[in-house]
Amino acid sequence: MHLLLVEDDDMLAEAVRDGLQRAGYTVDRAPDAPAARLALTDHAYHAVLLDLGLPGGSGLAVLQGLRARYDATPVLIITARDQLSDRIHGLDAGADDYVAKPFQLDELCARLRAVVRRSQGRVSPLISHGKVCIDPAKRVVTRDGEPVSLSVHEYRTLLALMEKRGWVVTRDQLQDAVYGGSSSIESNTIAVYIHQLRRKLGDDLIVTVHGFGYRVGEERA
Ligand code: CA
Repeated sequence: MHLLLVEDDDMLAEAVRDGLQRAGYTVDRAPDAPAARLALTDHAYHAVLLDLGLPGGSGLAVLQGLRARYDATPVLIITARDQLSDRIHGLDAGADDYVAKPFQLDELCARLRAVVRRSQGRVSPLISHGKVCIDPAKRVVTRDGEPVSLSVHEYRTLLALMEKRGWVVTRDQLQDAVYGGSSSIESNTIAVYIHQLRRKLGDDLIVTVHGFGYRVGEERA
């Protein structure tokens, strides 16, 4: 199981990472908000441990960005014991649970197992168009009922288009959906993902709207 630990306190982060690794988890660590955003756009984690007070931005904003692109990765917030309002805001922003500092590793592991289990059983509306269907909670894409393997970036491109089926989605909007607003992206990368998606899911799924962007399905009046 692959986890992202977002925590700026080096000593705490090291201790938690050691403990989680001993418990059998693979742990990436992000020490600030930009590193967290980058890690979350480049990898699909089983769960995220998220401190709220971070250099370079708040953990809450990282969480909101994740949920804004329909990423349902389970998130466990790490809060100071007395910050009740943080917990409430975190849960409202789409966190699955929280642990208060200082915490025991046993408790952390138990809560992690619980949020991952719940997320796997999560039922969400499916998004489908023609033969293609997405289950956003499970991040599974099927064509004619058969699973299709997509990269994280291909998946996000497809999700952004399918969410807005019938409407044109601009390249800028797609880049936002795929990279979570990080800049310095090669401008032709979206075209590459579209090409891959057509190859894997059929030429007729995604329409190029020259000068604007792309669309799935018939244009809406
Ligand atoms: Ca902190």
